[in-house]
Amino acid sequence: MDDFARHLLHWYDLHGRHDLPWQHPRAPYRVWVSEVMLQQTQVATVLPYFERFVDALPDVRALAAASEDRVLALWSGLGYYRRARYLHAAAQRCVVRHDGELPRDFESLAALPGIGRSTAGAILALAHEQRHAILDGNVKRVLSRYHGVAGWPGERTVENALWAHAETHTPEARIADYTQAIMDLGATVCTRANPRCDACPQAQVCAAHRAGTTAVIPAARPARALPEKYTFFVVLRDEHDRVLLQRRPPQGVWPGLWSLPEAADEHAAQELASRLAALDPDTAVALPVILHVFTHFKLHASPIEWRGVRARSAVADDPATRWYSRAEIADLGIPAPVRKVLMRWPEASSAKNSSAKPKASIARHGRANSANASTNTSDAKRGNSGLTTRPC
Ligand code: SF4
Repeated sequence: MDDFARHLLHWYDLHGRHDLPWQHPRAPYRVWVSEVMLQQTQVATVLPYFERFVDALPDVRALAAASEDRVLALWSGLGYYRRARYLHAAAQRCVVRHDGELPRDFESLAALPGIGRSTAGAILALAHEQRHAILDGNVKRVLSRYHGVAGWPGERTVENALWAHAETHTPEARIADYTQAIMDLGATVCTRANPRCDACPQAQVCAAHRAGTTAVIPAARPARALPEKYTFFVVLRDEHDRVLLQRRPPQGVWPGLWSLPEAADEHAAQELASRLAALDPDTAVALPVILHVFTHFKLHASPIEWRGVRARSAVADDPATRWYSRAEIADLGIPAPVRKVLMRWPEASSAKNSSAKPKASIARHGRANSANASTNTSDAKRGNSGLTTRPC
């Protein structure tokens, strides 16, 4: 065991995290679910989702047997939904090929959907005490600074150098503790901003600390302008306090989740709304614009709402378009920005009366209150909607 691992384990015994729910018991399935949830998400955010997920689906077979809707609903709010779909697909493959268990060998494990080299290493190290290196975001940061590796860790040459360091430091003994320890150090001491080097067991040797370069190592991802996309959400609420949702296709943004019908512009949104429900077009109300940043683009979604509409029978024939009550929505997989729009549920009494033209809608053909209509600058680009606006 080298000095890096020895100092780290000593620190872990005193200051590491020993009470995370996936550590008790540290069963392979629980470790796997936690590792996938922790990809791109912090521990504090993951905790309630993890408890809920493993309570509902306590093992590989239960996960494999669950419907995709159920899995996505349990994941709803965590984001990066592709992770949930991979988790589900991997569980089904485990039932078919591995007798309902996660495989214990690295190659078979890393071949499952959504499990890369680092996640496979973490599962085998944490659950089975097998010696494998890991290199998640926290570990990349610690090793970049400790060894003074400049450059963005997303670059292949930088990542390869970090893997080499990770392999070198990984000890033969106490592998589960070491794996947890290096993740903990990155999450709690060697943080992205203002690392607490005075509390770090590696401070005497750490290259970035000694050189005063912790602010620039690791280098940030090279800046790039994200393309901006615009869409209109059609929010239809009927007289029974239900809202109309559509299931998104299995590919693309928010795959398989339930979302609001979408249109390219305001006119198309009006047409779509009239096709989906019987309504008075003049009761349309523009809700505040939602800005959501994806990895590859920014989405500006302008919700337009009609209340007290009447469902059209044609909708009942389409399994991907359904009216949902407030209670049912709680159990659906719905993207967080869409859920934010849906949570503006009208009170039951006002919903009943909402088919009446709202007073403010006399401004329908006039100038909308763009200050209320927008949470960002996107309205300036689109111009005024001309719709009545209703603040959140
Ligand atoms: S000394 Fe500072 S920069 Fe170096 S590993 Fe520790 S916390 Fe990170």
